[in-house]
Amino acid sequence: MRDDGAFTYNGGKVARGETQNIRYGISETYLGDPVRIPVTIINGERDGPTAFLTAAAHGDELNGIEVVREVAHEWDLSNLAGTLVCMPVLNVPGFLAQQRYLPIYDRDLNRSFPGREDSTSAKRMAARIFDNFILPCDFGIDFHTSTRGRTNMLHVRADMEHAGTARLANAFGSHVIIASGGGDGMLRTEATAAGVPAITVEMGEAHRFQRGLIDEALAGVESVFAEYGLYDDTAVRWPGWRTVIDDENEKTWIRADAGGIVDMHYDRGALVHEGDRICTITNPFKDDNITVEAPFTGLMVGVLENPVVYPGNPLCHLVELEERVRRVVEREQSPDGDSLRA
Ligand SMILES: [Zn+2]
Repeated sequence: MRDDGAFTYNGGKVARGETQNIRYGISETYLGDPVRIPVTIINGERDGPTAFLTAAAHGDELNGIEVVREVAHEWDLSNLAGTLVCMPVLNVPGFLAQQRYLPIYDRDLNRSFPGREDSTSAKRMAARIFDNFILPCDFGIDFHTSTRGRTNMLHVRADMEHAGTARLANAFGSHVIIASGGGDGMLRTEATAAGVPAITVEMGEAHRFQRGLIDEALAGVESVFAEYGLYDDTAVRWPGWRTVIDDENEKTWIRADAGGIVDMHYDRGALVHEGDRICTITNPFKDDNITVEAPFTGLMVGVLENPVVYPGNPLCHLVELEERVRRVVEREQSPDGDSLRA
């Protein structure tokens, strides 16, 4: 952000009080046509922080696209204090092919940040995005979904030992935060390392718009805006209960020990007790069924959606809850309480 309050990027400038929809070239196709990502920059009338909202770094993870578009184009931002950099589709080639990775040698754009101008195609694209639109920000949120064939309850992934990302994660107000520094090349990890605290929001499954989750994420964005003063008239939300999953918590991906067709007995977000039958793995004749039991009491953060497995494939991501939180969730999911089962 410059002294006159303008947001600048290579090739353009968005003055205070101005909004621009641009298509920004990050690469070229085999035909020499530009590969351009949609970017909306909303520079508020009033001074404040600069935040990025990004989605579809994995091209088939669609829920976040709608979150970013609704903030940019449906919210009343006339009183915004600060600047929003909204990029609903980062991985345009993957989005067009409806697949997770860049179709070029199956590179993972979300392992290619901060990128490099003289390196691979993926790193060149990453560098164009990172240098122009991520580095000028004060913080940001990157939206993802579960990998194809699985689903997860909305949760935040953040480095909770970093004050900036912990503040952001808490402000989002999700029930579940998974504490992790992330991997090399991930947008949130590299942005944070470069001085722009960033978190990932995981929500639902690939190839879908899931309205309930999109609304939940929009409430999280609004809460973050309240925390950082982008909005005056909203409050930081408290989700009712919260658990930060770190190395202290028992957590595991429960994997199938047999190939087969899976009858899943719970949905994402369900609390299961030790010994509960999570799912049954069946064969085509429905005999010799194999029951998979919960090894400990915990929350089903991620669940298989496509009901077929080889031995070793993940069935569900189960995380242990601390006693106090477990009681709250138990009450909430009891027949009289508000059910979390979606
Ligand atoms: Zn992803």
